[in-house]
Amino acid sequence: MKTKNWYYRFFTIVFIALFAIVAVFWISNQRFEHSVIKTEAETIASEKKAFENNPDVATALRTGKINPSAQSFLTTFVSTSQQIVTIVDAHFKPLFQSNHTVKVTRDEQTLTAIKKGAEYGYQTELINGKRFLSVTFPYKEKNKILAYIQLSLPYTAFNQAINHFSTYSALLFIGLFIIVMLLFYFLYRQHTQPIRTVLPTLKRIAKQPQKEVLILENTPEWNELYQTVNTVAKQMNRTYRAYEDNKRQFESLIHDLQVGIFLIDEQQQLRLINPSGQQFLHLKNFQPGMHYVEALKQIDLVKLIQQCLHEQKDVHGEIHVTQPHEAIFDIKLRYLSENQRIIGTIYNITELRKLETMQEDFVSNVSHELKTPITSIIGFTETLLDGAKDDPEMSEQFLHIIEKDAQRLQQLIQEIIQLSRSASELDKDDIVTVSPIEVINGLLQHYQKNIDDKQLTIQVTGKSSLTIQTFLYYFDPIIKNLIENAISYNRQKGSVTISVTETHHHCQITIADTGIGMAEKDLERVFERFYRVDKARSRNLGGTGLGLAIVKHYTEVLHGTVTVKSQLGVGTTFTLIFPKTLIL
Ligand code: ADP
Repeated sequence: MKTKNWYYRFFTIVFIALFAIVAVFWISNQRFEHSVIKTEAETIASEKKAFENNPDVATALRTGKINPSAQSFLTTFVSTSQQIVTIVDAHFKPLFQSNHTVKVTRDEQTLTAIKKGAEYGYQTELINGKRFLSVTFPYKEKNKILAYIQLSLPYTAFNQAINHFSTYSALLFIGLFIIVMLLFYFLYRQHTQPIRTVLPTLKRIAKQPQKEVLILENTPEWNELYQTVNTVAKQMNRTYRAYEDNKRQFESLIHDLQVGIFLIDEQQQLRLINPSGQQFLHLKNFQPGMHYVEALKQIDLVKLIQQCLHEQKDVHGEIHVTQPHEAIFDIKLRYLSENQRIIGTIYNITELRKLETMQEDFVSNVSHELKTPITSIIGFTETLLDGAKDDPEMSEQFLHIIEKDAQRLQQLIQEIIQLSRSASELDKDDIVTVSPIEVINGLLQHYQKNIDDKQLTIQVTGKSSLTIQTFLYYFDPIIKNLIENAISYNRQKGSVTISVTETHHHCQITIADTGIGMAEKDLERVFERFYRVDKARSRNLGGTGLGLAIVKHYTEVLHGTVTVKSQLGVGTTFTLIFPKTLIL
């Protein structure tokens, strides 16, 4: 029940109680006044005897003339009794009037009662603006009414008792009213106590369900109720906290998920899309509640959603995005028939697709690279067997070609094996501390003939005391490939400058040549497997197109980085950075 209703009830009861008390007060006052007037009238009527017993008055009334002796009696009576005396004969002709404005009552009721034998009659009246009690009685002889005597006494002579009664009873009733009201108020408070205690608690629980609000009041008659409310409040609080925890966990899971997730409601509005989803689809300033067509924008995705809505079943598809970067997404749309909603997942499969393409390219490249020398070997072997072996000059020439192709095959197979090695093959026990300068100088010795042929100037700078932790098995091929390229792609009488420097935690190796250099567009791709700027030239030089792919792969295995700078016709510089301490 609402508090307002209680106020209405309370004030209605107060009003009724007040009305009842005022009514009782008024009735009792009236009754008391009547009884006082009756008693007073009786007292006044008892004075009748004084008139009847006075022979002068009796004579005067019998004769209808007020003689001097009667006049003197009446005057004395008037002056001693404060009353107004009015005497009229049986025909209401005035015989005596102590106050000339006063007339004997003609009140029918009083006169009829007197005629029927009543001793007297009385009524109240206003004389000159003042209230009087007038008592009228007959003067009889032999049962015949000879005159009417009326004695009028002013109210002021006897109303003191009435006034006192009024005052006391008023005080009494006011006191009674206050007591009744206090009693009622107390009962009302008692009655509404649980509401006043429980209601604010419930309101607080509804407003702040995360806070534990308990009733601490200790009122025996309501304790069970309070305990029950407390138990319910505790349970609600626990449930709310569990719900909040789950919500938070769910939100952080959705938030941190690498997969994009979105929800479209039954009004086809985009209700939710996690940060990954927003990033994938380049949604800026996403506002929940937008129509999915307007919010998602990607036409292919919109089409898939339309299909899902139309067919009312799960849909799976792929979308290609070109803006701002090219990307491929795998889209799974789950149709929830119970509420006509769609939950969508977005997987970024760009890298996966790239990897797949790379693998396909690699396989076709490998088969192509292997096919060329094998075809050549088979061709020359057949020619030799068909008779060319008998020509010593021709057979020597063919055997040299077969040897070259076989070496090329061997190199290719070796490099493919190198490329397939992964970091998981590393063993801590194989870590060695080496001086890069010494490794570089050692490797350079193998290329002395090529250096001399090209009349190259080689310059190596750096402290041989500078050491790094590494796996030689991986470190050697990196340096070897870069030195090989710096010599192979160099010009006649060019130079190769190798420098080894250090920072606090790292060692930097730069290998710079003054060779043919590379264009900007090639630099982006030189680390790809089988990528060669000039295929024929590379093949002539004995290259496979796998050297730099091995360099990049092994550098990463050793937790390092490799970068390249080049200018066509000027030269190329490769920079390697390795951590001095290798932590697996
Ligand atoms: P390759 O066996 O053909 O040398 P690499 O992977 O080592 O294969 O190199 C890839 C390609 O990058 C080469 O074919 C060559 O065109 C280019 N390249 C590599 N190093 C240099 C360099 N120092 N100067 C110019 N071009 C280079």
